[in-house]
Amino acid sequence: MSVHKNFIAGEWIGSSYQVANINPSDTNDIVGEYAQASRGQVNQAVDAAYTASAGWARSGIQQRCECLDAIGTEILARKQELGTLLSREEGKTLVEGIGEATRAGQIFKFFAGEALRNVGELLPSVRPGLGVEISREAVGPIAIITPWNFPIAIPAWKIAPALAFGNTVVFKPAELTPGSAWALTDIIARSGIPEGVFNLVMGPGAEIGAPMLNDRRIRAVSFTGSTRTGRIVAGACSARNARYQLEMGGKNPLVVLNDCGLDNAVNCAVNGAFFSTGQRCTASSRLIVEESIHDAFVAALVQKMEGLVIGDALAEGTDIGPVADQTQLNKNLKYVQIGKEEGAELLTGGEVVEREKPGFYQKPALFIDTDNSMRINKEEIFGPVASVIKVSDLDEAMHNANDTQFGLSAGICTSSLRSAARFKQESQAGMVMVNAPTAGVDYHVPFGGTKGSSFGPREQGGYARDFYTTVKTAYTQT
Ligand code: ADP
Repeated sequence: MSVHKNFIAGEWIGSSYQVANINPSDTNDIVGEYAQASRGQVNQAVDAAYTASAGWARSGIQQRCECLDAIGTEILARKQELGTLLSREEGKTLVEGIGEATRAGQIFKFFAGEALRNVGELLPSVRPGLGVEISREAVGPIAIITPWNFPIAIPAWKIAPALAFGNTVVFKPAELTPGSAWALTDIIARSGIPEGVFNLVMGPGAEIGAPMLNDRRIRAVSFTGSTRTGRIVAGACSARNARYQLEMGGKNPLVVLNDCGLDNAVNCAVNGAFFSTGQRCTASSRLIVEESIHDAFVAALVQKMEGLVIGDALAEGTDIGPVADQTQLNKNLKYVQIGKEEGAELLTGGEVVEREKPGFYQKPALFIDTDNSMRINKEEIFGPVASVIKVSDLDEAMHNANDTQFGLSAGICTSSLRSAARFKQESQAGMVMVNAPTAGVDYHVPFGGTKGSSFGPREQGGYARDFYTTVKTAYTQT
């Protein structure tokens, strides 16, 4: 089996060590072998990004637009193949995998246009005879560190704006999903981008991610992953005054009021809590349900959950693919146990299920009789485990929804305009959904949260420019 190499200074570079990328739907299936970059190679990649940065910043918006457009076009043309690779290595269903690949292509197309729209401002000075120009410039070499749960969309929504605004990139994808990252790099490498502008280094975070954080040539770090690693990124970057942006966990509430449409509320809960095997930072893990509809909602939800097909991500008809790996599965099982020990009632699911091929299959779990002080409602699990919190009214629902260290996404199902308006206003989350799942966002508008979920400027849409540019104020005596 040929080894997929790292991409440094415009060359594919092998290494002495490679790891197998394993399909979580069938652990006998090896997706590919991926070279692990050495620290020396990381240094070369940073060097290449640093050397290329001045030229790329001056390259002009037409060239950058054309490169991004070419990347987007190829991703969209190959969405079936890229989606299949994604689902095979990560475990989300093929529909979700193709959807994610499509999203990545759309993001590159969007930022191709944004490269052309990097507007500035022109003002008169308060001192007669002077003019003032405010412009946005590239930041410099940027490290992009990504997780495994969206292995092509998250890299796309960081890499595309970075390149659009004239920055160079060192990209370190998650250990579990190098396949999508490598395929994306292969497309970027053929887009006409100059050597050194984009570099891929694959390998463990602590080994090759950490040195990038401390390298003074890296001027900014965009990170998505765990709260624990986010703190490391923040510490290292703030110590040397590099800019950083963090997207971390969530413990997202979905409030269900008694005036909701029951079918839609159940669909929102199933989609939000269990699709993508619950492995989304925007997943609805806390279902906060008004007392008078509690029993009907829970009964309908359990019925729907029992009908979900859990199986091979690539098989037709699968609703829920496997958990990404054994470590994540162990974590999910640990939290199911914790929930029981805390006194919650496990109404359905939670157990490992066997399928024809060996994989990390788990039946979606639903706890009832839970309250917000339990660990299962406070800590992010990142798996197909959700709990129901019964409340007496919207006041109590609102309190519970906001009573969390996180603040990424929050949803409400109601037919009351008044309740929806209040929820949008009082919710302490960065993204609010009315009668829609907490997960599932558009690519042309900002993405991000509050409190422990996010730090720094928003990602995606026009707001992405705030992180990927620096502001210059120039005075000219005329
Ligand atoms: P997850 O639980 O989603 O795997 P992590 O925070 O462990 O979250 O991983 C997200 C990304 O951060 C991965 O690419 C991982 O390799 C990287 N990473 C982990 N530890 C470090 C570190 N100490 N320094 C830099 N990057 C790291």
